[in-house]
Amino acid sequence: MDTSTAAASGGPQDFYRALHQAFDATLARHPGRPALLDALLGQAFDSFQGNVAIQCEDEPPLACHRGCATCCTLRVTATTPEVLLVARFLRAVQPALRARGIDLIGQLRAANAGSQGLGEQERVGLRQVCPFIAQGVCVIYAVRPLACRGHASHDVKACVAAARGERDEVPYSAGHHLVRALVQNAMQSALRDAGLAWGSVEFNQALLLALDQPEAEARWLSGEDVLAAAAVHEVPADEMAAVFDRLRPH
Ligand code: SF4
Repeated sequence: MDTSTAAASGGPQDFYRALHQAFDATLARHPGRPALLDALLGQAFDSFQGNVAIQCEDEPPLACHRGCATCCTLRVTATTPEVLLVARFLRAVQPALRARGIDLIGQLRAANAGSQGLGEQERVGLRQVCPFIAQGVCVIYAVRPLACRGHASHDVKACVAAARGERDEVPYSAGHHLVRALVQNAMQSALRDAGLAWGSVEFNQALLLALDQPEAEARWLSGEDVLAAAAVHEVPADEMAAVFDRLRPH
């Protein structure tokens, strides 16, 4: 099944299983090879993008647009391959950005020093702006994690008030949230079945771990959980694994 628009042809479970099988095939095609990262995440981002529009057909229009970073103070979680892709991107663009006076990795270190180890609610209270915003724009937009893609609002005034701590609830897009969860969980379950690290990690801390270990990508491809120190544990791994086992495609 072409998973870039699979949500149109079945329910969430059918979509999840089709995605899982597509990720299984990609993982089998590139065992232990650096090409896996691009292939896996290209598939994840295309599947998200292709299906979110279908899933949100009956929702009000989004208030989000490229260049709006109002909600970019929240804690971001990601999977290991997403973090490794951003690490690759940062290594490639850092020299050019430094020449323009932008030190993204320095900003990342400073942000992480103030937030490492804080839970989701503490991070909301901190109101720390994401270190990847430069001149009001997300510099890593092309490779941003699924968590950022799946966080979309229908009301920018509500986002502004929430960012100031003046309100708790924002009308977020349920369709974006659902498609992000289905794509991410299908990828995580396929990674687990392939013997690769599959848990969620706190983005900033994990990214520094990846940047500080030149062999992180090769070690992850060989089965090591190289970002384990940044793991988030809100949902215990054994509970997630039990759900993945129940939903695995036959
Ligand atoms: S990575 Fe980009 S989209 Fe995600 S929180 Fe940071 S600035 Fe916002």
